[in-house]
Amino acid sequence: PNAHQQADKTIDSVCPYCGVGCQLTYHVKDNTILRVEGQNGPANAGRLCVKGRYGFDYVHHEQRLTHPLIRREGVPKNPVDLLNTEQVHTAFRQASWEEALALVASKLKQIKTTHGGNALAGFGSAKGSNEEAYLFQKLVRTGFGTNNVDHCTRLCHASSVAALLEGIGSGAVSNPLMDVDQAEVIFVIGANPTVNHPVGATWIKNAVKKGAKLIVADPRRSDLARHATHFLQFKADSDVALLNALLHVIIDENLINTEFIKTRTEGFDALKANVATCTPEAMAPICGIPASELRAVARLYAKSKSAMILWGMGISQHTHGTDNARCLISLALITGQIGRPGTGLHPLRGQNNVQGASDAGLIPMMYPDYQPVGNTEAQRRFETLWNTPLSSTPGLTVVETMQAILAGTVKGMYILGENPAMSDPDLNHARKALAALDFLVVQDIFLTETATLADVVLPASAFPEKTGTFTNTDRLVQLGQQAIDPPGLARQDLWIIQSIAQGLGLSWNYQTVEDVFDEMRRAMHSIEGITWQRLQREHAVVYPCLHEGDAGQAVVFTEEFPTHSGKARLVPAQYRGAAEKPDVEFPFVLITGRQLEHWHTGSMTRRASVLDAIEPEPTALFNPSDLNSLNIQPGDKVSLRSRRGEITIFARADSCTPQGNVFVPFCYAEAAINKLTHAALDPHGKIPEFKYCAIAVHKN
Ligand code: SF4
Repeated sequence: PNAHQQADKTIDSVCPYCGVGCQLTYHVKDNTILRVEGQNGPANAGRLCVKGRYGFDYVHHEQRLTHPLIRREGVPKNPVDLLNTEQVHTAFRQASWEEALALVASKLKQIKTTHGGNALAGFGSAKGSNEEAYLFQKLVRTGFGTNNVDHCTRLCHASSVAALLEGIGSGAVSNPLMDVDQAEVIFVIGANPTVNHPVGATWIKNAVKKGAKLIVADPRRSDLARHATHFLQFKADSDVALLNALLHVIIDENLINTEFIKTRTEGFDALKANVATCTPEAMAPICGIPASELRAVARLYAKSKSAMILWGMGISQHTHGTDNARCLISLALITGQIGRPGTGLHPLRGQNNVQGASDAGLIPMMYPDYQPVGNTEAQRRFETLWNTPLSSTPGLTVVETMQAILAGTVKGMYILGENPAMSDPDLNHARKALAALDFLVVQDIFLTETATLADVVLPASAFPEKTGTFTNTDRLVQLGQQAIDPPGLARQDLWIIQSIAQGLGLSWNYQTVEDVFDEMRRAMHSIEGITWQRLQREHAVVYPCLHEGDAGQAVVFTEEFPTHSGKARLVPAQYRGAAEKPDVEFPFVLITGRQLEHWHTGSMTRRASVLDAIEPEPTALFNPSDLNSLNIQPGDKVSLRSRRGEITIFARADSCTPQGNVFVPFCYAEAAINKLTHAALDPHGKIPEFKYCAIAVHKN
């Protein structure tokens, strides 16, 4: 499209990428998006990053799916050599919607009748709307008859949410990101907002310019570290050691908020006993930060009038991710740095709707609004609302589902908009599992790596092709509006979910997105006060919003916590380290993550012309001294190998990556780094350890 052409319409919506939730305007001519412009939304005030501004023409890409596809008789599913796009017609034939939907319904029914509902599972998407997430989990729970429903939150902040629910009774942020403007101290740990939440990072940098003190803690030096008062480059799996040292100093030097601890928390004595021996001197050799620096940071955080903690996947994607988050929660609680503007806890949500999808119940152990599966009262409530008996057994998480497929207990799956054949850890194992399913239906906009292993592929609508609500990292419910029509026979996702539900015999009859949203309001107390009309008028409303006219609460926990006692719970954690350590055969630590120009498994951004032109090739980032000692030049091809798999990739010099570590983005299918990652899980959040495993490096 020519960006200088005159648009014939403009549509206000939100960005489809990260959890910051920037509002934007699509400029459209003849069903083509010409350009995107930042809107004056509450999270972005007109700003957009490179992805939001230039990452839109994937919707017009020639590889868009435009017809339902059915795998041809006798074509095997090959988990080792996935199909490429050119091979699609040899493996699949085009079908009508009637034929494809009938096949999906009959196969799912057959598996349910023969093996029971728990032989089925569904992965929904944090890229879909709240309404899609809500209907998807309702379909799995009421149509499949199981709680085996999950999505990429399991690979993202599941451990943070486990710790937050346990500690303060709510898995969402306590304060919006913009609150950094009111913080005296900002503590960013295990997050790289300049890359992953770029507009959010601009607010942090602005706050620093106005005088806020910034503490950045990360094994890799991020761009944000340039603005930091203190930068702690700690060893990659030593978060708990570092944080326990900070807790020790604060308690030992009596920098605690005694009144807050007494009136608002439980469990202080156990926490104090747990960190009694975690002196900075004892923890320094483990985390690699000098004791004096640990003391200085602890004092700065605890003594400030208002201090805010923000964290990302560097905290959560560990087998000790829940423990990492427990320590951060304890830091805020013992100092009383929560419940006021400019304070609190902010796990930076990754996907644009990972908060909303989790809120809507797209998780195996919770109904909508975090009502626990297995709680009799919650079960009765949803059985009444949905007019169907429900299973009281919590379902399988993402990685557990893969294990269950290979164990033969899960036989059929419905995957909407997720790409586990790229995003799961130990990919060779995950792809083998997907290929082993008796029946797999995938709903997506491209023939993703996961879709190549499907029996039926359903062509879905891209973000600008539909209307729905999306909840950003700040708990802001925002309205995404349809700007263009889907191509060919591609359909709205809500229509597809409802059609499958009807095929399974459910008498659903949602006419509009608004119908679904209205039911969600009845199911979810937190958004009860948000009307569709208000969303159309204001475009963004923060929850909790308990009654019509309620302004919503941007800052929560001002008086009490949503726990049984109203008090928060301090939970001690002990340093354990990573599940797989480097050794002689695999001497390097692999850290995976994202890069500025690409999004997650790359299915959208690698088909966005500007973004792919900037970053077209997969690269592994090495400290220059490691390249030197391995006799590797930047640009050389190297092979990376772990106990689980091997890839070939280009080497890149990066002084921000510490010696002995290698950083690789996970968005490149031709060098799928998750073939190497470790599927060991955090015992509470069931999140895999994407941020640490042992690898070997060889020059090709
Ligand atoms: Fe989109 Fe996030 Fe960039 Fe905003 S910061 S434009 S929401 S990717």
